[in-house]
Amino acid sequence: MASKDLPLSTKREFVERSAKKRGTLPPQHLSDLTLAERKDAVSALGLPGFRADQLSRHWYGRLEDDPAAWTDLTGGPRDKIVDALLPPILTPVRALTCDGGTTLKQVWRLHDDALVESVLMRYPNRVTMCVSSQAGCAMNCPFCATGQAGLTRNMSTAEIVEQVLAGARALQRGEVAGGPGRISNVVLMGMGEPLANYNRVVKALRMLTSEAPEGLGMSARGITVSTVGLVPRIRQLAGEGLPFTLAVSLHAPDDELRNELVPINNRYPVAEVLDAAWEYTARTKRRVSIEYALIRDINDQADRADQLGRLLAGHLVHVNLIPLNPTPGSKWTASRPESERAFVRGLESHGVPVTVRDTRGREIDGACGQLAATTS
Ligand code: SAH
Repeated sequence: MASKDLPLSTKREFVERSAKKRGTLPPQHLSDLTLAERKDAVSALGLPGFRADQLSRHWYGRLEDDPAAWTDLTGGPRDKIVDALLPPILTPVRALTCDGGTTLKQVWRLHDDALVESVLMRYPNRVTMCVSSQAGCAMNCPFCATGQAGLTRNMSTAEIVEQVLAGARALQRGEVAGGPGRISNVVLMGMGEPLANYNRVVKALRMLTSEAPEGLGMSARGITVSTVGLVPRIRQLAGEGLPFTLAVSLHAPDDELRNELVPINNRYPVAEVLDAAWEYTARTKRRVSIEYALIRDINDQADRADQLGRLLAGHLVHVNLIPLNPTPGSKWTASRPESERAFVRGLESHGVPVTVRDTRGREIDGACGQLAATTS
């Protein structure tokens, strides 16, 4: 039935429902707030400010999300706080594991029914959480599953922080193979373009790096922000005073091809993106990662390796080659092993450090670019 045939009341309800729900930020949550803001929020409930410290110690220090276990915060005050500051914002829809239980992909439903994903990857010496920063993405890179559906909305600070906390709790409770552990690294390489949601993302990262009870006390060096290359935002991030690791999704050394693979290149071409990356290294002293998905016969030729090597030689940089994960219906596929090896040698001949990224989570569609949230 076309919407014009619906009775007016139904039509209005339909329009109101979709306008209210889809694409709106969630209600405010504890993890949207700095410690000072939490104190204000608790005071606004008529409670003393120290309640914010108690709550924060449980939530971020002990990772205890069951209010019944908060022995020093009970009864009316606890209920008021839970109602006002802990609305459910991430509902688990599906959890999938692979790699012997050391990779865990989680699909989350947000309050407006948007779906996003996070992936926990446990290695012998570290645990990395890959999290989403937007529901969907507006960047429209043709090889990336997330780009195909466009942008639904930015995620809130709390929606970003809580993906990490969910992983941290699962690890603490021993729900990930290998026994209890802690998250050492966070990469913003899930769905979305983090620098297009700049303020919320940076606030989330500040919270992750704040000492408990304000945050999780993570090292900024262990946090990687991956971007298509939003030049003004890279420069802004360089000035934040925190040494996050920057990853730039280059995928081609020349504007002609990059315009196609990463369409925002039409606005911020390769030379400008790399200039901003070098400013980032100069100001933070951090090595920048260059992400390069190897696509068979598209960007994996020897002359492109040589061109990339010349652009990067002498800089504080590391290249991460990612074998393309073909998305459904894509005409592109991963490079042949011999082209991959030749590409590595091409970069090494310029003295550029390079590694080939593993493809953790591939069988559960949790690898790079596969986060399409096919659950409905
Ligand atoms: N918007 C950010 C984060 C996106 S995902 C960015 O573009 O950097 C993280 C990385 O996965 C990016 O380098 C992205 O280009 C890459 N990626 C996306 N789809 C991919 C695919 N199908 N195969 C391999 N890598 C992919």
